[in-house]
Amino acid sequence: MTNIQANFPIPFAGDELDHGEHLREPEQMLALMQKTSARAILIHKGKIGIGAGGRPHRIHPSDLVGHDLMAPGPLFLGMEGDRPIFAFSVDKPEAFMPEQNFVSLRGIGGNLKPSDLALAGRAKSLFAWHFTDKHCVSCGNKTVARSGGIKQQCTGCGAESFPRVNPVAIMLVTDGDRVLLGRGAGWPEGAMSALAGFISPGESIEEAAQREVLEEAGIKTKNPRYVFSQPWPFPAQLMMGIMLEAVNTDITIDPKELEDARWFTREDVLAVYEKRGEAFMRLPRQTIAHQLLRHWLAETA
Ligand SMILES: [Zn+2]
Repeated sequence: MTNIQANFPIPFAGDELDHGEHLREPEQMLALMQKTSARAILIHKGKIGIGAGGRPHRIHPSDLVGHDLMAPGPLFLGMEGDRPIFAFSVDKPEAFMPEQNFVSLRGIGGNLKPSDLALAGRAKSLFAWHFTDKHCVSCGNKTVARSGGIKQQCTGCGAESFPRVNPVAIMLVTDGDRVLLGRGAGWPEGAMSALAGFISPGESIEEAAQREVLEEAGIKTKNPRYVFSQPWPFPAQLMMGIMLEAVNTDITIDPKELEDARWFTREDVLAVYEKRGEAFMRLPRQTIAHQLLRHWLAETA
């Protein structure tokens, strides 16, 4: 598994910062923001501000004086060597750069340096949590960000809460040299991907994977095998890649979940990856499905 990760960087993983767990008291954060070396990346409506050289634009935290900063305020992402790195969610992006320079991570993800993509994804997920979870689940009072945005505290009962990560199983089902791919409702023509589904309470990853494949495509499977995982910041999933072997091969799709599901040969997939075939639309590089197919191609070479 480590070899695969070394050969194929897992998109949205590979954050190189020290998260600075012992630097998160309010007075420490203030001192870090005032350091000359401090920098902040900018997020606007879940999009990342891209600057020169195609990397996330960085400003000094003091450049934000006089501008509106959206709640929860600055996120402290950690230390890049001696340099503190923050993320700001800005209300008026044009104060810093043209609004069109703020780009969705879905669109640009494959072009960013892996560590930049990981950092931007983490900031995006944390902001999404703060924007949606604004009240205490115990007493309903408002919560405020603490420890540089990695937790919240209730202003009523004082309870602390932490960002949730939602586990999703994503499955590559094989039948000899064939692989099962499906198309969700409303996807573009030709788009096909690995089947995926949320893990339910009381299920192991492997059980969820087998249940989802049976429910969505009518395929019984055996020998589920965990391959690798990927953070997916839309808004905060953890995609867990599982490979399984088909027991039966007749597909019965659940039309509520899928528009289509089909077997593709290894040659079909290889041709798509080598850009000489169009059996299906090549998946964006930043998706784990793309990486799972690459992994399968490598494993079966
Ligand atoms: Zn409370």
